[in-house]
Amino acid sequence: MTRLVVVSNRVTVPTDNDVRAGGLAVAVQDALAQRGGIWFGWSGKAIQKADPEPHITKVGSVTYATLDLSRTQYHAYYNGFANRTLWPLFHYRIGLMSFSKREFACYREVNELFAAKLVPLLHEDDTLWVHDYHLILLGEELRKRGLQRPMGFFLHTPFPAAEIFTVLPQHEELARALCAYDLVGFQTDRDLRSFLDYIVHEAGGGIMGDHLIHAFGRTLRVEIFPIGIDTELYEKAGAMAEDSEAVQQSKRDLGDLSCVVGVDRLDYSKGLVERFQAFECLLVNYPELRRKTTLLQIAPPSRSEVPEYKEIRRHLEGEAGRINGQYAELDWIPINYLSRSYNREELAGIYRMSKIGLVTSLRDGMNLVAKEYVAVQNPEDPGVLVLSRFAGAAGELEAALIVNPYDSEGVADAIARGLAMPLEERQERWKAMIEVLRTNTLMKWRDSFIESLNEAPFE
Ligand code: UDP
Repeated sequence: MTRLVVVSNRVTVPTDNDVRAGGLAVAVQDALAQRGGIWFGWSGKAIQKADPEPHITKVGSVTYATLDLSRTQYHAYYNGFANRTLWPLFHYRIGLMSFSKREFACYREVNELFAAKLVPLLHEDDTLWVHDYHLILLGEELRKRGLQRPMGFFLHTPFPAAEIFTVLPQHEELARALCAYDLVGFQTDRDLRSFLDYIVHEAGGGIMGDHLIHAFGRTLRVEIFPIGIDTELYEKAGAMAEDSEAVQQSKRDLGDLSCVVGVDRLDYSKGLVERFQAFECLLVNYPELRRKTTLLQIAPPSRSEVPEYKEIRRHLEGEAGRINGQYAELDWIPINYLSRSYNREELAGIYRMSKIGLVTSLRDGMNLVAKEYVAVQNPEDPGVLVLSRFAGAAGELEAALIVNPYDSEGVADAIARGLAMPLEERQERWKAMIEVLRTNTLMKWRDSFIESLNEAPFE
């Protein structure tokens, strides 16, 4: 078996006291440990004068190689082109997108730096797997340095419709760079269709069938790999949480109150303001649910140095204050907004005691919270998932109550329907969803991507 080399924007080197937290990092580490290999990426440190050489740490058969960035690179590459240009663009928010040539040049500079520092670490027959929108140019930069071996790229975010993608002045450079990989993986059929549309109608490329396309002088494979969760781990966490004192206490505190839960990084793609407004709509259109329902919103801040994230926080806090001010009573607060993060065990307990899991993303690559919510439910008495049609997860979790997050009244109706749903229907819907989650696990996602990449080259 050839070695695997994984490249992602951020790399966290495991320490001796690490509790194996589950999730993507563990799935990748396990694949690396099985075959031996390298995990290469940014250390997460931005310093005035960055050391140009990677820091190397060996843990068993896995080498962790991390680079520091300069403060300038951190601002222009990470906060700038990645998070203020590509992130809003890929989430269909062109109004929030800012663009500068200087930031794009720095994005290229960091992709070049990654390539230059990775090449000396590689063996002849390594297989490379590059992750996400920060590193679209990396494959092309590696090819420029003579690398012929198989390279795959997985996009964790959505890929936008061609009409949106072409708003970016450098759309062709990015598309050409994507085609330097042998395999490009997307989360959903919708993302793949958008990419194919671009390839055919903008890039003059062709679809050859059997997942193969030809564009920019190369033949590559394009496929869908919907990312999953470690379903068994979450099912166990849910069962454990049921017996925990914290959950029992919270249930006693809630009494007759039904909890609707939202768990999201504080990001404008999650539709949090729209969610609060839909909850307000529920209070207006279904007054009998007042004092009987509460929205628990967990929203740990993210990317707080980016101005649009400061703005969404201000806006959301304003909406929570306004709605609570208008509808709260002495013994009831409609929205409980917690701006901190919780660990998996805590979240499992919170999901498990909530009658409704509410996901209203305006656009989302996948949305793992939706999957986690379903996996931890009590099979005897499961809650209901209300899920945005614009989250990647809606492609698989068809048995959720699918909503349009822009339609406050429709979301309010779905919450009310979920709260009143008979046990039998809840169980049927949950069974359909857990079956999907038990099949499409995180490990299956990882293994199918690597298996497909192992068949490269496709020329
Ligand atoms: N999460 C967490 N603690 C929190 C909030 C979120 O551990 O307080 C986790 C959550 O369980 C999920 C991930 O963060 O695994 C969020 O993934 P998702 O795909 O929903 O959204 P993303 O943040 O990647 O856009």
